[in-house]
Amino acid sequence: MANVKEYSVEEKLASLINLQKIESQMDEVQILKGELPMEVSDLEDEITGLHSRETRIEEEVNGINEFIEQKKEAIKEAQALVKKYEKQTENVKNNREFEAINKEIEMQTLEMKLAEKHIKDAMEEISDKARLLETAKKNIGAKETNLKHKKGELEKIILETEKEEQEFREQATKAKDKVDPRLLASYERIRKNYRNGLAVVPIVRDACGGCFNAIPPQRQSEIRQRKKIIVCENCGRILVDEELPELAIENK
Ligand SMILES: [Zn+2]
Repeated sequence: MANVKEYSVEEKLASLINLQKIESQMDEVQILKGELPMEVSDLEDEITGLHSRETRIEEEVNGINEFIEQKKEAIKEAQALVKKYEKQTENVKNNREFEAINKEIEMQTLEMKLAEKHIKDAMEEISDKARLLETAKKNIGAKETNLKHKKGELEKIILETEKEEQEFREQATKAKDKVDPRLLASYERIRKNYRNGLAVVPIVRDACGGCFNAIPPQRQSEIRQRKKIIVCENCGRILVDEELPELAIENK
């Protein structure tokens, strides 16, 4: 025979209460971890970003250094040419030739001056970049210290709660197997809607234990009969009577 069993409403609710209890304990572990997992991953992203910024600046500096080398090379070439032209002036035959050579010397001197100006500008650019690089490095350092601290904290909590969480996960899987699938689906939907993750709540002082909306006596007695699933008219949570949670734990 297939493993199909019809559960009574009371049994269905009891299984659900059991599941809620386990999952609430899991929620408590998550609360303990708090924002740490998100903070850690944000910091890791920021550090990666800063590292690529660092690399980019270093590449730019390399490019500027190459440019400076080219300009230095150009100056050397111009100096060599000037030397060559000056030597030529020693054996000029006429004025026109002399002037032509002088013009070349002037041109090369101008080239040298221009190259020197380019080098000076490039050096300034490099010192700007060096400042940016220093800021980036400082930022990385500060963020890495912060990350180390937060990671340590998180790891400590994970280590402390790992076993517990694993147990809760196993318990929850087992508990889910015992819950009616349709009821489980609404339970999960309601659970997702509320920050405190409570989908099944008892009557507390004549009110819904989730939203504290008053429950009329007639409805309370219906809930106590455990003959049908009743949800809070205000918040939609599944309502159970005060005693059912105790029974659910005993019969687990
Ligand atoms: Zn409610």
